[in-house]
Amino acid sequence: MNLILLGPPGAGKGTQAKRLQQKHGIAQISTGDMLRAEVKAGSVVGQRAKAVMESGQLVSDDLIIAMLEKRIQQPDAACGFILDGFPRTVPQADALDLMLDRAGTPIDAVIELKVDDAALVDRIAGRFTCAICGAGYHDNFQTPRVEGTCDVCGGHEFIRRADDRRETVAARLDAYHTQTAPILPHYRNTGRLVTLDGMADVDTVSREIEAVLAQVPKRTVTIS
Ligand code: ADP
Ligand code: ADP
Ligand code: ZN
Repeated sequence: MNLILLGPPGAGKGTQAKRLQQKHGIAQISTGDMLRAEVKAGSVVGQRAKAVMESGQLVSDDLIIAMLEKRIQQPDAACGFILDGFPRTVPQADALDLMLDRAGTPIDAVIELKVDDAALVDRIAGRFTCAICGAGYHDNFQTPRVEGTCDVCGGHEFIRRADDRRETVAARLDAYHTQTAPILPHYRNTGRLVTLDGMADVDTVSREIEAVLAQVPKRTVTIS
């Protein structure tokens, strides 16, 4: 099963993609996580992307498309994947269609999480993750069960993203509305887009996603 999760920054894509990865054994592919790993490693890609990411703008299509194309060829993506944060522009959506046509692995569902801009600012400002396993939390909406201890791995170190400052959020929301929202009609026209209320709590959103996936026809995978 191949899915796309669409939605503005802070909509809950990463939170839901992690749950889907665990439940369905399909790979979460987050271009944001991949870029942050490149920045941390100090690679050429990371050096090109760092300042752009910190300013809340989008990284160039060429760089992202090349990175994604390599990633979906990895063995863990063979049984299916969830794209989280890609595509984000019309050229990226077009490039994805071409890639998947060539590979013969179509997208089964495109799920848009709709959340008000005001709520997004609060979600982003309160977001933090475990430095060891990457589990996601929020200061108000999703705190660890034991304060200071990761529920998943027991780690005690947490990180906040450099671009999760209130000052940068406006630029990121602007990028979403001007550059990413125009891809929605592309998926709506092919009948694959389902829009869900991302304002609901995390468990409710998960249940609604599962209900959408239950409608996805099973495909037979031929292994040659
Ligand atoms: P969020 O989860 O808050 O939407 P991401 O982690 O997906 O943010 O992305 C963080 C930043 O990485 C973006 O603001 C952008 O600079 C860059 N980025 C991630 N994915 C893409 C993409 N598909 N195209 C261009 N830039 C991207
Ligand atoms: P995205 O990947 O779309 O940028 P995240 O999944 O990282 O968004 O979620 C942003 C923040 O909001 C995180 O701190 C997360 O814990 C929290 N969050 C995610 N989904 C919900 C929800 N349905 N209700 C409240 N908070 C949420
Ligand atoms: Zn952890």
